[in-house]
Amino acid sequence: MASGIGKVFLVGGGPGDPGLITLRGCQCLARADVILYDYLVNPQILAHARPGAELICLGRHGRERIMSPEEVNARVVRFAREGRSVVRLKGGDPAVFAHAAEEVAALEAAGVSYEVVPGITAALAVGSYAGIPLTHGKAASAVALVTAQEREDKQTSALDYSALAAFPGTLVFYMGITTARHWTAALVAAGKPATTPAAIVRRCSWPDQETILCTLGTLCEVIDARRLRPPALVVVGEVAALAPEHGWFIDRPLFGKRVLVTRAEQQGPALISMLSELGAQVLVQPAIEIAAPEDWRPVDQALAHLDELDWLVFSSANGVRALLDRLLESRDLRALGGLRLAAIGPGSTAELARYHLRADLMPEHYQAEALAAALHEEAQLGKRFLLARASRGREVLADELTAAGGSVKQVVVYTSRDVAHANQEIAAQLSAGEIDWITVTSSAIARSLAGLFGADLHKARLAAISPLTAGVLKELGFQVAAEARQYTMAGLVEAICSADAGRPSR
Ligand code: SAH
Repeated sequence: MASGIGKVFLVGGGPGDPGLITLRGCQCLARADVILYDYLVNPQILAHARPGAELICLGRHGRERIMSPEEVNARVVRFAREGRSVVRLKGGDPAVFAHAAEEVAALEAAGVSYEVVPGITAALAVGSYAGIPLTHGKAASAVALVTAQEREDKQTSALDYSALAAFPGTLVFYMGITTARHWTAALVAAGKPATTPAAIVRRCSWPDQETILCTLGTLCEVIDARRLRPPALVVVGEVAALAPEHGWFIDRPLFGKRVLVTRAEQQGPALISMLSELGAQVLVQPAIEIAAPEDWRPVDQALAHLDELDWLVFSSANGVRALLDRLLESRDLRALGGLRLAAIGPGSTAELARYHLRADLMPEHYQAEALAAALHEEAQLGKRFLLARASRGREVLADELTAAGGSVKQVVVYTSRDVAHANQEIAAQLSAGEIDWITVTSSAIARSLAGLFGADLHKARLAAISPLTAGVLKELGFQVAAEARQYTMAGLVEAICSADAGRPSR
């Protein structure tokens, strides 16, 4: 689907943290028909793309074939000529060691219109995320960004190491890990003291960021001993010695922890962003899939007779969305008339609010039993309830309302199924003991996880959303390391943080 006018946006995606792309960058992504992105870019940024946009990864060093710059340019030009809006998404800033000039020249030569959107280059992220001030009132009045990977055809053949050694400020080396032996020796030979403080900052602003302090003279040893791989920057200069042991980024409560989120795909984002904000490295393996009900007819029939009901009862945000979206396909919210709305907890209440609806009732504890108790008197008055439910789940709500004298109709508004196969990489990480926490946000998820991972589930700590879910895990033979006190995503995250406090990072 082309937007009509072919244009190319050269966009900087920032150093890793997906929040570090610019607003303009997000706008370009949201409108793009096709996005070509580098492996350095955090794939989470692609969530800004519109559904249906074509996403093309340009390959990863050592893994796939890397497209040559000429090939990339030719494709970009071709897409633009087809009338598509093209984003060429790059790590950091497009004009810092990223061939912007060549790409712009190719676009100019082809007569394709373009825009360049800056990004935060990795060196700047070092200042904020690793706490190393690149300039300093007393220690550094200037900064030089240096590439340690020289192109052979460059006219000024190699770096001028005497000038760099004499540079009155901070040197930041990009792409300097594999070439460290060469450039550190050259700098020292040119007169830079081997004792000059240096800091290696690897994967800056990613959840596995590492900072290692050393000196210009010991840099190679450190790289070898720790087998450090790119991407990393090396900061050389007095400011490197100022690198703090702590800092806002690595002091966040879940920094260095790997947490597996297992909710259905559509339900994951809120939990994922809460965990990421606290520093966790979040992996995703949905344990259940949510889809449309097999048969909408009972739902449609119930919706056609809303005036014969007193209460609509929702036991999940999914139920709210499924029922109301179906209603809105043919009518509008006035169809609800004077119906009263009950929601099981804050999630379903918030989902109602998205439709400009207010829940008339939400129990104190976010469980079916508590919802049934809160509606007990209404049931005793013989009121009529429609329960919007999943294809599987407990009968307790329907049973208790019926027993109390209510007239209860249930309709399945979405199906919930176990996911059949685990992602291989995640299964391998779990098996190797590399996952710290697994979030278990419903009984169905608990059962499905046991099927997906079996005994390997013992290798991570399990965090349960409620006593009910914890009970299911225990019945299945697993230990529960954290249990939410408030049965919400926020409550679960809080429980993980307190159970994790004081445990070492990996
Ligand atoms: N245009 C990019 C740089 C591309 S060159 C920018 O402006 O940041 C690739 C090099 O950038 C890597 O080898 C590494 O030295 C550096 N780099 C990119 N992202 C990084 C990160 N998150 N942490 C540390 N170094 C990074």
